[in-house]
Amino acid sequence: MTSRNHQLFELSQKYIPGGVNSPVRAFKSVGGEPIFFQRGQGAYVWDVDGKAYIDYVGSWGPLILGHAQTEVINAVQTAAQNGLTFGAPTEAELKIAELICQLIPSIEQVRLVSSGTEAGMSAIRLARGYTGRSHIIKFEGCYHGHDDALLVKAGSGALTFGHPSSAGVPAETVGHTIVLDYNDRAGLEKTFVEHGDKIAAVIVEPIAGNMNLIMPESGFLATLRELCTQHGSVLIFDEVMTGFRVGLSCAQGLYQIKPDLTTLGKVIGGGMPMAAFGGRRDIMQCLAPLGPVYQAGTLSGNPVAVAAGLATLKQVQAVGFYERLASKTQQLTEGIVAIAKKQGVAFCAQSVGGMFGLYFREKIPASFSEVMECDKDAFNRFFHAMLNEGVYFAPSAFEAGFVSSAHGDMEIDKTLVAAEKVFDTW
Ligand code: PMP
Repeated sequence: MTSRNHQLFELSQKYIPGGVNSPVRAFKSVGGEPIFFQRGQGAYVWDVDGKAYIDYVGSWGPLILGHAQTEVINAVQTAAQNGLTFGAPTEAELKIAELICQLIPSIEQVRLVSSGTEAGMSAIRLARGYTGRSHIIKFEGCYHGHDDALLVKAGSGALTFGHPSSAGVPAETVGHTIVLDYNDRAGLEKTFVEHGDKIAAVIVEPIAGNMNLIMPESGFLATLRELCTQHGSVLIFDEVMTGFRVGLSCAQGLYQIKPDLTTLGKVIGGGMPMAAFGGRRDIMQCLAPLGPVYQAGTLSGNPVAVAAGLATLKQVQAVGFYERLASKTQQLTEGIVAIAKKQGVAFCAQSVGGMFGLYFREKIPASFSEVMECDKDAFNRFFHAMLNEGVYFAPSAFEAGFVSSAHGDMEIDKTLVAAEKVFDTW
């Protein structure tokens, strides 16, 4: 009998390119068919054929409280009953803006948008408008959304599917984008010596989560901060993934580095389409209607999305929230590593807050080129074997994974039992 999943995928491919509305959802790199989900609750998702999975994707990061979390759903329902959108200011927008500014000291003013892509694109335009310069620096393997100027040697799906630099982007558009190696301080210094007065901004994932998980080496972010200050360039931290995921003060708090602008997304929308960019007041005030840099959005600050975001941010502020999340995540990675070691599999893992990286190689990678050395075939085998056991990891060797506060000891234990079974017959 053909599964419902297969039927839906067949039909979807007729009407939707590749059958998916975002390429990372396709199982193209791991093989097989993407899973169509019907519902989620806590740490679990159920597919259309009724099979349950422990979910370590969490919609690619937003669901830090797990699926259909009661307070978030209640807030969304209440907001929806009062009207879906006004295209005019609401008090809830003020509340979330104030909260973001309080929780992230580098942000003095913030503007809400609807996706991480919009946040990154707007931050770049703002930095260019503020400095009157054109060049930007980004790092290979970092993903900042699908804006033209940033789709150069990008991570995430762009990397997974072998098109890190997208077709359809004119050479002139990316002519101002300089791509450097993540963690390469010497390369940075050299570039600033040569082009410092032309560089409007450096955009970086302060912890890179779109080429699997790569931590910044000691001094990398500090060097970035120093060089940007010295040359009058705007330092943009893309915390769309790391924001309220690695800790309450985000990656910038962990490393004690203050960027000029920050982009946020995922967790701040609590599973609804919301993102933001914010930072220094003098820079933010260049935005329309105050200044000449134009940026807008019909659904920006959408009341339902803001309600989900507020309900989420309220809960992550609970005492010990991030300590518990980090220890749960570590329990998972350390558990899988121990099992793999026992079976002699070349495997390692690491985590920060509620975010983790799994690598099929002996040593934790510190650069893009080291990530590329991971055994992709081994990952694909692992992915499918775990899926079969009811554990859903991201369908790519180049994505970070996520644990939510709904993942308890039981879910971690079940995952480890599944890993034991998988590595036993490796
Ligand atoms: N920046 C980073 C660091 C991301 O991880 C993502 C999405 N994975 C984006 C930007 C783009 O966000 P969105 O998909 O909401 O456009």
